[in-house]
Amino acid sequence: MQRTYLHSAPQKELSNLGGKIENTIFPPLRAPYSKGKDWQQDSAKNEADVLILGAGASGLMCAREAAGRGLKVIILERGSVPGRKLAISGGGKANFTNRQINTSHYRCAGVGDSDFCAPALRSFTSTHMIRLVRQWHLPFEEREHGQLFLTVPAQKIVKALLEDCRQRECRVECKNSVESLHALDDMFEVKTTVGTWRARNVVLALGSPAWPQAGGSGQGYRLAQGLGHSVVPPRPALSPLLLPAAHPFTALAGISLPVRISVGQRHWQDDLLFTHEGLSGPAALKASLYWEEGAEVRVDFLPNQKFKTLLDANEAGKQTPRAILARLLPQRLVDALLPQENARRKAAELSRVVRTALEEAVHNHALLPVGVAGLKKAEVCLGGVSTCEVDPLTMGSLRTRGLYFVGEVLDVAGLLGGYNLHWAWASGMAAARALPGEISHAAKA
Ligand SMILES: Cc1cc2nc3c(=O)[nH]c(=O)nc-3n(C[C@H](O)[C@H](O)[C@H](O)COP(=O)(O)OP(=O)(O)OC[C@H]3O[C@@H](n4cnc5c(N)ncnc54)[C@H](O)[C@@H]3O)c2cc1C
Repeated sequence: MQRTYLHSAPQKELSNLGGKIENTIFPPLRAPYSKGKDWQQDSAKNEADVLILGAGASGLMCAREAAGRGLKVIILERGSVPGRKLAISGGGKANFTNRQINTSHYRCAGVGDSDFCAPALRSFTSTHMIRLVRQWHLPFEEREHGQLFLTVPAQKIVKALLEDCRQRECRVECKNSVESLHALDDMFEVKTTVGTWRARNVVLALGSPAWPQAGGSGQGYRLAQGLGHSVVPPRPALSPLLLPAAHPFTALAGISLPVRISVGQRHWQDDLLFTHEGLSGPAALKASLYWEEGAEVRVDFLPNQKFKTLLDANEAGKQTPRAILARLLPQRLVDALLPQENARRKAAELSRVVRTALEEAVHNHALLPVGVAGLKKAEVCLGGVSTCEVDPLTMGSLRTRGLYFVGEVLDVAGLLGGYNLHWAWASGMAAARALPGEISHAAKA
């Protein structure tokens, strides 16, 4: 199913959202708290109510909301442009949310469980996000499994967030790689490659090391550990599953088909893609979120039909299982699936035991992956800052007052389908709404 939602925005407005994102600081703006002074020239220009570390999906959403509440917000970003991962998400069309979202779509790899996500997901639902996307005049469509994608480049969602930040007088400082974070008496001090920054509140929105090509780094974990937080060791997820080099399926590279895939008690029906290294496509990526070393993955290659019914059909008696199955699946796959000694015998000659083995090979094919592809191919990381040390209502640290964690830096990973971006939005909003409302002495100066 593919439904398109076009808003009523005039075309002109849409095209205005395109174009190149400025690669560094927004133009100086007059802020209410700077009492008419230009804060680029203000002696306190490196001080804010809130420093947000990382200008990705969660950091930008948090900044937008916090600045909208009148807080002086500065975002520090190491890239030369903000939102690089967001801009390439969803194949460049940002699967920005899902119609159906609940805690079962998330996994915490540590001792915490995904109930941690409940308050943030309740406070900021997919309906809220859809409203925002409509407000930004960005057209979108619904694809299968309730996934909502833009029909314009994902870059436009970055642009829309940045425009809101700019209007709300939030500064984005690019090419500022955060090197250290210290909690002083009533302030945090952040050192970047460019300078020193101070604020009463810091939001860690540094993401995970997944997809380092688009800015992924493990710096958020290091900074969190430096302030006494535990980090569940990160590992790649939503990443292809690797099969042993000599596995017959590695010769099927390029074949793609709908399957039902299971890991333990969890299962999904989606497309599977064979690669030279193993299994990819949405089905394999979803399975990778729950796959543990040494675990089996089971695949039903004919999820909507019973192979038994096909073998039992009157006209099937003189045909071979190989020929019967090849009417529904690619021949190369059929040859890799069915045991050769029985695949070319007439169906009528097969014993019950042999038939059961053939059915098992088609409907419950066991595979033993040897791993998941590395960080360069992983859309997210499992693991991160332990959710046991973070308040689920506010995303605030239970160890250090004024410190918040949002997005993927936390030990929260969502399934494929818009769940990770939605977590970035929802957690970013939760922190922004919880940030202390009063404007700090330093920021007023
Ligand atoms: C190829 C790909 C496609 C994806 N598609 C989807 C999708 O369609 N739907 C979906 O729901 N999810 C998708 N995801 C996952 C989703 O993009 C992430 O979960 C989400 O962007 C996480 O947001 P975040 O703000 O936590 O981190 P990020 O968006 O990664 O932002 C972290 C920011 O911190 C910056 N940073 C890192 N280190 C430093 C430092 N030392 N100093 C300063 N800044 C630093 C980074 O440059 C980055 O801008 C995709 C991921 C990938 C890799």
